Amino acid sequence: MYRDRGVNGSKPEASPLDRKRINNVLDRHLERASSSTTKGLNGKEKERLPLTLPAAGKRPDHRDQHPSLSKNKCSEDESDTDSEESDVSGSDGEDTSWISWFCNLKGNEFFCEIDEEYIQDDFNLCGLSGQVPYYDYALDLILDVESSHGDMLTEEQNEMIESAAEMLYGLIHVRYILTGRGMAAMLEKFKNYDFGRCPRVHCSSQPCLPVGQSDIPRSSTVKIYCPKCEDIHYPRSKYQGNIDGAYFGTTFPHLFLMTYGHLNPQKPSQQYVPRVFGFKVRKT
Ligand SMILES: [Zn+2]
Repeated sequence: MYRDRGVNGSKPEASPLDRKRINNVLDRHLERASSSTTKGLNGKEKERLPLTLPAAGKRPDHRDQHPSLSKNKCSEDESDTDSEESDVSGSDGEDTSWISWFCNLKGNEFFCEIDEEYIQDDFNLCGLSGQVPYYDYALDLILDVESSHGDMLTEEQNEMIESAAEMLYGLIHVRYILTGRGMAAMLEKFKNYDFGRCPRVHCSSQPCLPVGQSDIPRSSTVKIYCPKCEDIHYPRSKYQGNIDGAYFGTTFPHLFLMTYGHLNPQKPSQQYVPRVFGFKVRKT
């Protein structure tokens, strides 16, 4: 879906935002490749890693690339002679789910972790199967379900599934953050200033909330809404700036502030006045 040349040749050409997303996905592959130290790789092999990460014919397994787990993989490789060590490190590997791995990626700080129970309820996913390619595979990936079809997929299809999983997570996320539990998770993030602060001087570093300018996917990137000046701004991080606004939606910050009314700040008491040699500039 994010590529010019998809599996289905009749798909429309990718929009600029799609291209941004392609780059974003590729960046993440690079990032994951560089952060995982695989045993015995020389520089040349490392350069090729992004293309070879999802092993051909295998379902992409994030555990292989997770920085904290790559060590575990190495020790498994060495386990021919020492099985005890791999048993110990193997149990550590079960701690990281796809969801927490995804939410901890650079640029994904705005996403909260969705309860798996919420995703497992078909009612909450109503209508999404038609919007996301490789829906079943993407859902299995998000929920860490081992798929039996993985061996039949090409490398390119595996990458498409990974992109599809990100999109599916986003489309579930925009629904989840309007529920009680989702909003509570976002409240914690708001208190941690995870969404950034307003860049306006007279807003005095007011914490912001993520917002989309459209609820239709791939229309615009995510922005931050300042409750003080009631305006929207670009996120400071370019990684965050590539995230689709539809994964947060147009409703979230406003329903959030209605739910937690006490978080509504006072409007700014000062307004900036342009002056020349101390005199107000006259509008003509
Ligand atoms: Zn502001």
